[in-house]
Amino acid sequence: MTGTFLPYGRQSIDDDDIAAVAAVLKSDALTNGPAVDAFERALVEVTGAGDVVACSSGTTALHLAVLGLGLQPGDQVIVPTLTFLATANCARYVGAEVVFADVDPDTGLMTPRHLEDAIARARPGAAKVAIPVHLNGQCCDMEGLKAVADRHGISLIEDACHAVGSTYPGPSNARVTVGSSRASVAACLSFHPVKTIAMGEGGAVTTNDPKMAAAMRRLRSHGMERTPAQPVYPEYAQDADGSANPWFYEMTDVGWNFRATDIQCALGLSQLKKLNRFIARRQEVVARYDAALRPFAPLIRPIARVGGDPAWHLYVALIDFAALGKSRAVVMRALSAAGIGTQVHYFPVHLQPYYQERYGKQDLPGANAYYARCLSLPLFPAMTDADVDRVVAALAQIVK
Ligand SMILES: *Cc1c(COP(=O)(O)O)cnc(C)c1O
Repeated sequence: MTGTFLPYGRQSIDDDDIAAVAAVLKSDALTNGPAVDAFERALVEVTGAGDVVACSSGTTALHLAVLGLGLQPGDQVIVPTLTFLATANCARYVGAEVVFADVDPDTGLMTPRHLEDAIARARPGAAKVAIPVHLNGQCCDMEGLKAVADRHGISLIEDACHAVGSTYPGPSNARVTVGSSRASVAACLSFHPVKTIAMGEGGAVTTNDPKMAAAMRRLRSHGMERTPAQPVYPEYAQDADGSANPWFYEMTDVGWNFRATDIQCALGLSQLKKLNRFIARRQEVVARYDAALRPFAPLIRPIARVGGDPAWHLYVALIDFAALGKSRAVVMRALSAAGIGTQVHYFPVHLQPYYQERYGKQDLPGANAYYARCLSLPLFPAMTDADVDRVVAALAQIVK
C-alpha cells in the first residue's frame, strides 16, 4: 500500500470550522438559538428558495416534506429504485405506499418516461407525489418531470441530498439552482459528512410555499407553536386583558423532534462559506478522472452526462465486470489492498427484503444494468491530482 488510505468520500474540516463550533459551545444556546436561523438564511441565499427549514438529517428532511404535503395512508409515492433507502422509507413513515420507478442505465436518473411508466403502474388517482433523486449531484430533467407530473396532478419533491450547489438548465436554458424549487414543491438536502457540506448529521428542506414551511417548522418541533396567530382556545393563550400568556404553546398536530442544534448549524454555516471552492475542486477531480479513464472505454466509462453544472457528490465509473472477467468484489478488494476505498451506490431499493415482501418481485432493467456496473471511486475536495492518478494507475493494474 502506497500513501494513506483514500476513502471514497470524506469531509474537509478546517480550523475556522472548529472555531465556529467552539464559539457555540461557549455561548448560551446549544440548540434553538441564533445559529439555526443564520444557517437557514444562508441556505436561502445559496439556493434561492423562498424559505428553508433546517433539520436533523436528510432523512428527516424527506419525512418533513411528505408530512408538509399532508400525505396519508393509502396514498402512493413514486420513487426511483436507484437511491438511498430514505427516499423510499419517507413514504412508509406516513403510511403511504411506494411505487418504484426505473432509471436510465447510464445515468441512474429517473427520466420523464420512467415517471410515466411508474404512474401507469400506480393505482388510478393514488399517486400524489414523486421524488426524483439528483443522483451523484447530476440533476434530473425537472422541466420534463414537471410536465408529466402536472398532467397527472402529482407534486414533485426533489431528493437533492447529493446536489447542494448543482444547477441545471431551465426554461430557455436559464440556469436553475437546486433548491430554488422552480419545478417542485420542496427540495431535501443532507449534510452527512460524505455529502458536499458536513454538519455531522443535518439536513434541510427548501420550499417556496410559506404554509408548507410553517407546517414543517411546527412538525420539526413536536407540532407545537408558541405564538399562534389564531389560537384554537384563546382563553388558554391569553390573559383576561388579551395579552399573550408567556408560558403558552399550542399543539394542533402530533410532531417530532427533528431539530438541528446550534452546534450542527454553526458547522454547516462555516462549511457553506466554502461550498463554491468545494464544488470547483470536485469538478476538477471529475475532469481529471474523465480524461484519465478515456483509454479504458468501453470496459470502464464514466456515467453519461445530462448537462447542467453538477456539484459532483460521487464519481461513478461504470465497469463491464463480465468483460473484465473479474467480479466487482474482487476489484474492490484489490483496490482496497492498494489503499483505495470504493463503494456501490446503490443496491436497488425494490430488491430490499422489506420492499420485495411488500410489493413482490419486480423487473426494473435500467436500475439493474446501472447497479451491475457502478463503482464509486474516491472523490472529495482535499484529493490531489496525484491521488486521482494513483486510483487510475491501480485500476489499470487490475484491468491489464
Ligand atoms: C444521504 C442521503 C439521504 C439521507 O440523508 P441523511 O442525512 O443520511 O439522513 C437521502 N437520500 C439520498 C439520495 C442520500 O444520499
